[in-house]
Amino acid sequence: MSALRSSAAVSFALVASTAALVACGGAKSPATPATPATPARPVTLDRHAAEESNVNAYVLSDGQGAIVIDATRTPKDGAAIAALLAQRTAGPVTVLITHGHPDHFLGLGALRAALPQARFVVARPEIKADAIGMATWMASQGWLDALPAMKPRTDQHAAGFDYERELEVLTEPRLTLPGGAVLELTTSYPATEAEHMTTAYSPQLNALFTGDLAYQDVHLWLGVGVTRDAARAWQATLDQLAAAWAAKQPIVYPGHGAPTDASVFAADRAYIEEVLAITAAASSDEDAMAKMIARYPGHANRDFLLKMSVANLRTQK
Ligand SMILES: [Zn+2]
Repeated sequence: MSALRSSAAVSFALVASTAALVACGGAKSPATPATPATPARPVTLDRHAAEESNVNAYVLSDGQGAIVIDATRTPKDGAAIAALLAQRTAGPVTVLITHGHPDHFLGLGALRAALPQARFVVARPEIKADAIGMATWMASQGWLDALPAMKPRTDQHAAGFDYERELEVLTEPRLTLPGGAVLELTTSYPATEAEHMTTAYSPQLNALFTGDLAYQDVHLWLGVGVTRDAARAWQATLDQLAAAWAAKQPIVYPGHGAPTDASVFAADRAYIEEVLAITAAASSDEDAMAKMIARYPGHANRDFLLKMSVANLRTQK
């Protein structure tokens, strides 16, 4: 408990309220035997908010096991997720990587060290390929020199991470906790913030995990790899998400930043409109940075996310 409280993680727990459902059914027909499927065990949800990249990992647990959504970027954060898991369950753990960006998968090394039995999964083969491609490219650029254990394992670098073997591609669009609670996965998105993306929905918690399709009060990544066309596709995807989730009004758990609601889709759409217009018109990267900061004074991560986005979009004017 003290580890949980003293960690940098912002942690909280939500327990799905099944009590009302049970009480209602009982009052209606107390003599009816409970023949339908047993309701899934209640699920707790914890967020590990990493300082690095303002990126999130989420831990869903029913006490008998856990699902982790994303692994964050650093060994320190990966270890913090493992510590959080230890508070919740000694049961089987599955870690879902939503997309092939390093701030979502480089923490896997620390998770593997802490959890030798855990499954590391992706929802489609392209995401595994994206992650391997990213790690290979980063290694070639020297960007993983400080993290040699996360360079792809090769004959020359046997101490690297065996992405090929470690990342399992799911054959069904869902994950299920041992007590029956389901997480529904969707991957039918075009290239947006990343080439491929996974979102996950917990009906029990009415919780939508958007991967990096949504950011809350953090500058969006429109850096290298994100074309202006992909930015437009991202906007269209945000419109579709807003429409698709209008009725259910889920709690929205973004890839970066604090939990929010479905209004984040329109806010992020407007942000993309602004950054495309400002970078198209600005006289310099500095000019574009200043205008974006003036427009979004409370947004976190100017020095990396915003800076890289400005540089990337200005080369595509
Ligand atoms: Zn990210």
